[in-house]
Amino acid sequence: MVKILILGGTQEARLLAKKTANLPNIQVKISLAGLTSQAVTSKNLRVGSFGGVAGLINYLQEEKIDLIIDATHPFASQISHNAAIAAENLGLPFLMLIRPKWESVVGDKWIEVENIQAAAEILPNCAKRVFLTIGRQEVTAFSQVENIWFLMRAIEKPSSDIVLPKGLLLLERGPFDKDSEKQLLKKHNIDTLVSKNSGGNATYAKIIAARELGIKIVMIKRPMLPQGDRVEDIESALEWVKRVRS
Ligand code: NAP
Repeated sequence: MVKILILGGTQEARLLAKKTANLPNIQVKISLAGLTSQAVTSKNLRVGSFGGVAGLINYLQEEKIDLIIDATHPFASQISHNAAIAAENLGLPFLMLIRPKWESVVGDKWIEVENIQAAAEILPNCAKRVFLTIGRQEVTAFSQVENIWFLMRAIEKPSSDIVLPKGLLLLERGPFDKDSEKQLLKKHNIDTLVSKNSGGNATYAKIIAARELGIKIVMIKRPMLPQGDRVEDIESALEWVKRVRS
């Protein structure tokens, strides 16, 4: 029996866990950080942080994990670095499943920036009404930005220590389609969208909507991820599992 830990928090991780669990002689554990309330619990699921690299190493040893797949969001770089270090330390095979980033196409008006802070700094030069779609954890970086109205969207209410910028918070869960995204942008007279370059289809409708309405996007580039084996899709991750366990 081979035991795999899948670091999750993405749709890909969920699908990969399901498919991997169907392989013979494989036992899967999926790990979530626990930032959103979980509707589903199962014996294969663990929730909550590990306690840094040391905590992760303890967990891997206690659970006798043989392989690690990091299928977290491309912007969740801390856990990816921790997992890479822990895997190296214990000599465990380690794979990152990272969906391709979005590329701009004709009609897109992107301003690419290095990180969230840079996005907050550039906005006063180019925006008045902003749709901020970066999740609820990091909106505080925009709370000091003056003379801009922010439309924000999150699945759950931010915790009380998060300082929201001036504007409106919508609590909604996707997926959203292009037409509803266009309607939203028009309704609130948005001139600029701020987005992470998350990649994937689930949140791409807002990018198409902005393109079709001629709205510019401040696009936050991805953080650096650790060196190591990488694949871009679930099928390739499954192939890696089959290869490594044989
Ligand atoms: P992060 O900055 O890389 O991680 C911060 C800390 O949270 C880690 O050091 C670790 O704590 C814990 N952690 C993160 N992912 C974990 C996991 N899958 N299982 C157990 N502990 C985990 O990550 P983040 O950006 O806060 O994202 C947290 C989770 O949300 C990730 O699982 C990610 O896939 C998901 N997510 C993130 C984004 C995003 O934009 N960042 C978007 C969608 C989903 P310890 O060091 O104490 O172990």
